[in-house]
Amino acid sequence: MKGNQQNLDLSRRNLLKFGALALGTGAVTTSIAANLATPQPAAAQNNITPDEALQKLMEGNKRFVDQKRQNPNQNTARLTEVARGQNPFAAILSCADSRVPTEIVFDQGLGDLFVVREAGNIATAEETGSLEFGTAVLGAKVLMVIGHEACGAVQAALQGSAVPGQIGSILAAIKPALANVTGEGDKRLENAIKANVMLQMQRLQASPVIQQLVKDGKLKVVGAYYDLDTGVISLIS
Ligand SMILES: [Zn+2]
Repeated sequence: MKGNQQNLDLSRRNLLKFGALALGTGAVTTSIAANLATPQPAAAQNNITPDEALQKLMEGNKRFVDQKRQNPNQNTARLTEVARGQNPFAAILSCADSRVPTEIVFDQGLGDLFVVREAGNIATAEETGSLEFGTAVLGAKVLMVIGHEACGAVQAALQGSAVPGQIGSILAAIKPALANVTGEGDKRLENAIKANVMLQMQRLQASPVIQQLVKDGKLKVVGAYYDLDTGVISLIS
């Protein structure tokens, strides 16, 4: 356990270093360190259990589906509050698809969600690093991977046809998920999208940083599927 703890501490130091390098200012490092050391004004919202964080997400989605959105945390006071520090309660890996706008479908606002969106919701090195940051450093308590109905990236990977530019690199990250996919037509695509969610979850769960958080009861990793017709997000894991 001690060794694991040291690994996590090292990882956190690396993340701090990353913050300084990527953004290039001492102030940023100080700000990140402050996030680690002392609760920020917005801290109360992620001082909850992983199960509570998941419930908060699902309740927000229900408000969206029922057309009872509260549009929380979107006023000027919240803007000012989160300018001093962020403590998102959830981290999300979702598709870049324009029909899956994360804050809207979960009825959340500024500083609530740490979101990585990428065609095909793939977890390659950069996405995994971002989500390690959102969970280990910023303290998000639930990490949700969301696939969605009619995902064009998964469909292209299933079809296997030639694609221009760098799109092939996205399809390559999806293809290993498709080996055992069954069904025909739309059902086959839905099964492939869900298999891809499971694969990307496995990749995230292979991260020692994420493994340690889960082991310590500080994080829950879940998979989900977004229905474009109804707006419903269903857990698939
Ligand atoms: Zn998609």
